Amino acid sequence: MSSITHHIPDELLIAYASGSLEQAFSLVLAAHISMCDECRARLGAHEAVGGAMLENACGTEAGMALSADLKARLLDALDDPVEPAPPAYHRSGVFPGPVMEALGGLPPKWKPLGMGVRQSILSHGKGGSVRLLYIPSGQAVPDHGHNGLELTLVLQGAFHDETGRFGVGDVEIADSDLEHTPVAEEGAACICLAATNAALRFRSFIPRLLQPVFRI
Ligand SMILES: [Zn+2]
Repeated sequence: MSSITHHIPDELLIAYASGSLEQAFSLVLAAHISMCDECRARLGAHEAVGGAMLENACGTEAGMALSADLKARLLDALDDPVEPAPPAYHRSGVFPGPVMEALGGLPPKWKPLGMGVRQSILSHGKGGSVRLLYIPSGQAVPDHGHNGLELTLVLQGAFHDETGRFGVGDVEIADSDLEHTPVAEEGAACICLAATNAALRFRSFIPRLLQPVFRI
């Protein structure tokens, strides 16, 4: 999709390629990569570099400590594509294959958050959470900051906030320094896939009160 302007930074692609990225973030990356030729190509390059580095390490004296069997298994693992092949789930409507997989092939179960905003939690645990958000056109998501990192991938429509505009396929990366108020653009409702590795901090009292209820 050539209209994508906000991509995945290298640090996250490398963490993803090496399998060290939190599961919630991995889903956002898998979904973006399924929509973005550029990031798919960059991921392939990182995987190739990772494999070459391992080959070199095995040629050195220190690397000799690696048994031939372990080396073979590591290289084999690196050769495995990160995306499941063949994909278990295909894109359905605005939802990419990896999201359909997280949904178990079923439509999202939307829960109202107020002001027409809805969410569907895909997974929630100690290490983070990932959810679908539905934001009616023109509607703002309550002002919030982050204790950790938040990745948001637009699946339908568009939103803008203090940092810029995000359309279909774009990824916003918000860290604990950013207090932002995303607003959905006029037109189609904005549907996003959002992952966090820590609870969001809402500035107003009521959302904070509801935080344990809605697990946001
Ligand atoms: Zn990209």
